[in-house]
Order: sequence, then structure tokens, then C-alpha cells
Amino acid sequence: MKKRTVVVVALGFAIAGGLLYQDAHSSKNSSAPIVGPSNSETSLPTDTPTEPPTETPTEPQTESPTKAPTESPTETPIELVKPPVKVSPAFALLADSLPSLTVKQDKKGAAIVTNTSSLYVLVNKQRNLPSDYEPKDLVVPDVPFSFSGNSPKKQMRKEAASALEKLFKAASEDGIKLKAVSGYRSYSTQKSIFESNVKRKGEKVANRTSARPGQSEHQTGLAMDISSASVSYGLEESFGDTKEGQWLAKYASEYGFIIRYPKGKEGITGYSYEPWHVRYVGKIVAKDVTRKEVTLEQYFEAAEEVIRPKA
Ligand SMILES: [Zn+2]
Repeated sequence: MKKRTVVVVALGFAIAGGLLYQDAHSSKNSSAPIVGPSNSETSLPTDTPTEPPTETPTEPQTESPTKAPTESPTETPIELVKPPVKVSPAFALLADSLPSLTVKQDKKGAAIVTNTSSLYVLVNKQRNLPSDYEPKDLVVPDVPFSFSGNSPKKQMRKEAASALEKLFKAASEDGIKLKAVSGYRSYSTQKSIFESNVKRKGEKVANRTSARPGQSEHQTGLAMDISSASVSYGLEESFGDTKEGQWLAKYASEYGFIIRYPKGKEGITGYSYEPWHVRYVGKIVAKDVTRKEVTLEQYFEAAEEVIRPKA
């Protein structure tokens, strides 16, 4: 019986260690369960002792974690209690792109991102692209567009464009007809759009529904607005209820895209729900973000906590 108790106690430590590890990966703002790559990364030893300890304990076993090691010095359950925190493959990709490492103040005090050409660049109302940033590898993806003729807004960065082609091909094979509406936008184009929206809708609404110049993901070349005939290729919330919008929400991450402005997250992203706006972050990160049901902001925050925890 005593031997069995020792094994049970050791298993207890293993589980406690696992919980500690998971806590380190949890996002502050999300109650979504952390699954997938994070869990598969657990650094618990795989050689959980299957043989009983050689030494017979002289005292009755207790549940006390401080006592167990002293009673069986040949075992090392103490290491199970504090496993080293490992970083998931998805978080590891973000190591050089953490928000705290990739921002500087300009002369006017605005926060400017420094990793402009990273696939993981975080651009939002707090993090501006430089006004002169223009991606170097813009191409026009071979997908159907909602309009004809040449336009700079047909462009995306090469890797994102190629991923978009795969996404559209898969949709088409599932009988889903999508069309691309708007991709790359320069700083000056975004400036015109925002100013025109302010005139038409007022500053408050314009701010919630369109980005100020420098704060648009479209300037990264990694975003595309997508719609369908069922909503007359409009960029509106009802697209999310169409079978095309639902297909996009379900499968975008398999091609490296996330629905960047999800429903109910306006307080975090700063933007209303946009079921049509997808952002390329690569498959590994897209799948992890989607599975955890978090915004990119929350995801980066969780990555910071693991990789660069505040002292
Ligand atoms: Zn958009």
C-alpha cells in the first residue's frame, strides 16, 4: 500500500506541474481553454517512475509535497512541481515581434511599429505604421475580384497572396464563391478614406469603422476584405451570416488567416465586427489564435506573459 501511495503522490506532482505549466500559458483576458500546441509542448518528464522506490519509507506517507522528496531521495518529484516553462511553436514565432519589443515613439509622441515587414506585425489604434511604409513584395493574387480593372488594392504581399489563392481554391471546391474586394492600401489612400468617412459619418463613427492613416492593416499588405454575391459584395456584418461568411470563419485559419475583428471584441480591437476582413499571420499562429478564440491583441499579450513576463 505504501509503495502505491508513493506513485500516487508522484502522479499528483505531475498533475500539479501540468497545471502550473498551463497557467503560464493562459491569457489574462480569455477564459477560452488553452489547447493544442501549448499543451503538446508540456515539458513534464515522460519517464514517470513505474517502479517502486528502493527505499521503504519509515514514516507514514502524507500528502505534503515537502515531505515526499525527503522520504524517497532516489526520486526527483520536486522537478515535476516546477517544470521549466517552454514556449509553444506558435509563441516562439512571435519572439521577435512582441509588442513591447517592436515600438518606438516618433517626434510627436506617436507609437510607431518597428517590425513593419514582419508577418506578425501588430497594427492597431495604439500602434502605427510609418507613413512611408510600403511592402516590397506586393503582387496581385490570382483570385476573383468584385471589380474589374487594375487597382493597387488588388495587391497583397507575396506569401499572403499565395495563401489567399489556396483559400479561394478550397472554397470553390466546397461550392463557396468568394470574391476579394480590397487588399493593400497605401498610407495616403487610407488618409483619403478616413477623411471622407469623417465628412460623411462624423468622426466617432468613422473611427469605429475605418482606420486612421498608419493604423490600417491594409497598409501591411497582409489583409484582404472578402465578400460574396449574397450580400452584393458589400462589406457588412450580414456577410458573417451567409454560408460564404461562415465558411470563411471556419476555414480561414487553415490557410494562415484570422478574422481580425471578431464579434464582441470591439473593446479590445477598437473596431466593430468585420466578418469580411482577414489578416494573414501564417498557419501556425492563425490556427492557434482561432482555436483559442482570442484577438491578435490578446494573443500577443499572452505571448508576452510567457516569453517576457513582467517582473
Ligand atoms: Zn479590411
